[in-house]
Amino acid sequence: MLNLPFTKYPITGAQVACPLCNSEDTVPLASWDRRFKRLAHVKCGDCGLIRHDYMPSEDELSEYYRTTYRSDYQRVQDGPSERHIAKRHREAALRLKRLTPHLKDGARLVDFGCGSAELVEDAIGMGYDARGFEPGSDYATYARDKKGLPVENCGWQDYSVDAPVDVVTTFHVFEHLLDPVLAVERILGWLADDGLFFIEVPDMSNALHKGFGCLHMAHTLGFSRYNLELLGAVCGLEVVEVFQDYDIGIIFRRGTPRPIEEIKADAVRQMAPWTKDVVHKTFWSYTAGKLKRR
Ligand SMILES: [Zn+2]
Repeated sequence: MLNLPFTKYPITGAQVACPLCNSEDTVPLASWDRRFKRLAHVKCGDCGLIRHDYMPSEDELSEYYRTTYRSDYQRVQDGPSERHIAKRHREAALRLKRLTPHLKDGARLVDFGCGSAELVEDAIGMGYDARGFEPGSDYATYARDKKGLPVENCGWQDYSVDAPVDVVTTFHVFEHLLDPVLAVERILGWLADDGLFFIEVPDMSNALHKGFGCLHMAHTLGFSRYNLELLGAVCGLEVVEVFQDYDIGIIFRRGTPRPIEEIKADAVRQMAPWTKDVVHKTFWSYTAGKLKRR
């Protein structure tokens, strides 16, 4: 599939209600994506969550991943590159360091969308009973067949566990989903009563400093810190710990979240500065700055 600038993706999509708060109120955010293709984004008027104005269907998204995504963003073929693996191990080390104080020895861990499974490998090395699943067959096959790790090649809808797990982790996956609430509800079915859910995604309040240079087809949803808290809250999860650096991570457990309306108000306030005008202007000033530094 050719991927030329100034053209539209061959995806029709449909306007949908906010997958986080169900509101149909939207504010325009951008007309373009980082490949300079026509791809309108909006933010939710009631919770600030960013999404495509026309959401692809599951089938359209699968077709996009099958034909275009790999060549655009991640080349794997015979397995990920040495550089990719080294970077993933560094990220896994930091994430496990953050998680360890909350886990008992030998805890059962599932990594949701584990990619080439560096986190699963490192968690096993630390004595955890870790496994994962990954819908991308290149990565899953590499992790399972070349590295011998307990990784299944499937999506979250088809994954199941034989006994409750102590923690489900997911890193940079939920920005690719269409229905994040359904996915968290599925996760809760795998978790022990006192189990933890550790999620990390790009923080759009930081990413938007590249303007629409941070927006692309594969990211169907764009979360800020409070959108992530809201995702947990609508599923009955309270915050255990927040990790705010360039990305945003939260460890959740079942409990009493802050009132939904309060979280939504915080989320709207955080994303209020990002209007379409600002996002477009920011892209040009960011790009001009980058050219100057060359
Ligand atoms: Zn919303």
